[in-house]
Amino acid sequence: MSVYEDLGVQPIINATGAVTRLGGAPMPEEVLAAFQAAAGESVSLEELQAAASQRIAAATGAEAGIVTAGAAAGLTLGAAAILTGDDLGKMERLPQCDDFPCQFIVAREQRSGYDHAVRASGARLVEVGFNEIVANAGVRRTEVWEYEAAITDQTAGIFYVFSPSSRPGLGELSAMARRHDLPVLVDAAGELPPREHLTSIIAAGADLVAYSGGKAIRGPQSTGILAGRSDLIRAAALQFLDMDDHPELWNPPADLIDREQLSGIPRHGLGRGYKVSKEEIVALLTALDLFTSGAYDELVGGEQQRLEVIAAALKHAPCECRLIESPDGQCSPRLEIEIDETAAGKSAFEICRELRSGSPPIYVGHGKLRESTLVVNPLHLTDGPAEIVAAALRKSLTQ
Ligand SMILES: *Cc1c(COP(=O)(O)O)cnc(C)c1O
Repeated sequence: MSVYEDLGVQPIINATGAVTRLGGAPMPEEVLAAFQAAAGESVSLEELQAAASQRIAAATGAEAGIVTAGAAAGLTLGAAAILTGDDLGKMERLPQCDDFPCQFIVAREQRSGYDHAVRASGARLVEVGFNEIVANAGVRRTEVWEYEAAITDQTAGIFYVFSPSSRPGLGELSAMARRHDLPVLVDAAGELPPREHLTSIIAAGADLVAYSGGKAIRGPQSTGILAGRSDLIRAAALQFLDMDDHPELWNPPADLIDREQLSGIPRHGLGRGYKVSKEEIVALLTALDLFTSGAYDELVGGEQQRLEVIAAALKHAPCECRLIESPDGQCSPRLEIEIDETAAGKSAFEICRELRSGSPPIYVGHGKLRESTLVVNPLHLTDGPAEIVAAALRKSLTQ
């Protein structure tokens, strides 16, 4: 019996990919082994985060980094670091920041539910630009001058959500921000792979960038990475590490937290609730090594085969299957199944609901349901579950 069944919770088949609500990405054996080994000994968390900083710096080209409790926690800590710098009084006051600059400029088209993480620091978002594409009202995207025109003495930084199609480009936006001495905080949570995004975002001028550790890196679901300028990483580290030590004794590694830059020791900071365990740090670093070495690329072929098995099972079903191959040999391929709702006699929503209520429950990607399309992501599918998904889809579509 599975550990979940012991608790009365039925395991599911995840054909959706590394989404948080279904438990994130599968962790490789090496990562699980590292997690277990790390649990057997004690270490100083400051020293461990300082070691992590060196590994993250090597992987990203940033000056420094920390392992965070997910990308969202990284965004909250990153925003807090930009708000406070090394000012201990400001750290103590967060999230109250009415008496110092606390505004982040963001493109209206880059707003999403995830930016609650930035606002949780106390920061206020100031929107610029329009959303003309979604409004079907024109062709223009947000432009650099719009950010520049919104800068006031209350501006603390710029918040940017990275994707290859984000506009304006991060490089030109960062160059403008640098002229105004304003840091740029980047959300790139789900933008790995490709591997090059680990280095290209810092190279384009991001001052801080947050990635998820529990998506394609395949670390623990509750981990992430915040990488960037060493002064900002210091301010972020100070606001989430445990601070209950005697000032006479406290001796953090200088490459992570340089005491010379501080007027004292802050108390527990805004991010104290975002703590990361030693096991999670070690497991994330192990997964990061696997990710950067390209070890996951060899899984892509098997993933594609399993999607082909599902497509073959649906050959005579009322749907059209499109296999979207990995564009770079790093990203997972996916299978789009466009339902002929008239011939099937049911909608894509109904099929999705049927799959979820089956035994075992199956969760397929729901991002295109309004286009009558189910999406199968193979990240979690081994051969057995792929066949169960194929059979369940065929049954649902043909009866
Ligand atoms: C997944 C995601 C997040 C949250 O990442 P966690 O690691 O789950 O905290 C934030 N922003 C974007 C754009 C995401 O896709």
